[in-house]
Amino acid sequence: MKIYSHENQKLHKPKSFYSRGKIHQPQEKPERLTALLRAPEAMGLNVIDAKEIGIDPILAVHDFGYVEFLKNGYDEWIALEDEVGEEVQTSIYMPHNNFGLGILAKAAKYQADGSAPIGKYTWTSIYWSAQTALNAADALLKEGEPSNKVQICLTRPAGHHARKSAAGGFCYLNNAAIIAEYLKPKFKKIAIIDTDMHHGQGIQEIFYNRKDVLYASVHGSPINFYPIVSGHEHEKGEGEGYGYNNNFPMPHGTDEDGFFNYVDKAIDKVKLFNPDVVIHVLGFDVYKDDPQAKCNVSTNGFFRLSKKLKALNKPIIILVEGGYCIEKLNENLQAFISGFTLDE
Ligand SMILES: [Zn+2]
Repeated sequence: MKIYSHENQKLHKPKSFYSRGKIHQPQEKPERLTALLRAPEAMGLNVIDAKEIGIDPILAVHDFGYVEFLKNGYDEWIALEDEVGEEVQTSIYMPHNNFGLGILAKAAKYQADGSAPIGKYTWTSIYWSAQTALNAADALLKEGEPSNKVQICLTRPAGHHARKSAAGGFCYLNNAAIIAEYLKPKFKKIAIIDTDMHHGQGIQEIFYNRKDVLYASVHGSPINFYPIVSGHEHEKGEGEGYGYNNNFPMPHGTDEDGFFNYVDKAIDKVKLFNPDVVIHVLGFDVYKDDPQAKCNVSTNGFFRLSKKLKALNKPIIILVEGGYCIEKLNENLQAFISGFTLDE
């Protein structure tokens, strides 16, 4: 097993997020990564410092104008003569029919909701979050593909809500999509299994017309729950991608066994697809005490989850994404890692 991270991911410190008519204290904080890093330390596992792979794999997925906005938008924002907040945060949502003339128009074009503000160091952290994920993909490209190869990326901020040209849901760059695309020259069939509490609408959007990347997501029903407007069962893909997008929305309040019933359905799709490599979007926000949880997964549930993934016997890259019960992230990540490392 290899584990990757990078300290620059801690620099992004959002001040607030706006949701449901209220301004909230940030949940996606640097302390999350500090807590996650305690798990490998406690288990005596080495964490590899991610090296820079570059921006090209990011631009292979995201629009140039969007990436340029993420990188330079903060400087343009604070240069406004009018009084502005400390972070780029739009109050106008206009992805289409918008020429992006001026930073306010760009923010209206590229921010999909009120939960992806851009501060001074946001670009540095999201860039290194993507680089952290890319290190695992790069290792698979260069080192071959032993069937039991397990790589865990402690990534922050997360990525699965990021669309081709829009930030939202605490996400800016879609790490799962970026590494899937990066792996394509060598791996023809890629499965992304997403067990975060929320539907990864960014991944769905990016691969909706494709059959070379299967998406299977278990998440809370999106009815009145983020991302609100996608994640339903009837969203199955389009064109040759029809059938390769699989959503398993859980009724709110689903218990742990119920969660695993849905996970098993998602895994069945992955098995049928028989991918060359699996990418797992791991959200610890399904944990019963997480402020975002709409289901009841225990710490032992993460051990159950990784044992199921191990049984796939495929090269797998795990991207740690959601999870906001900071005091339990260490314990829950240790439980997850144990499912791969302990023999039973
Ligand atoms: Zn989530």
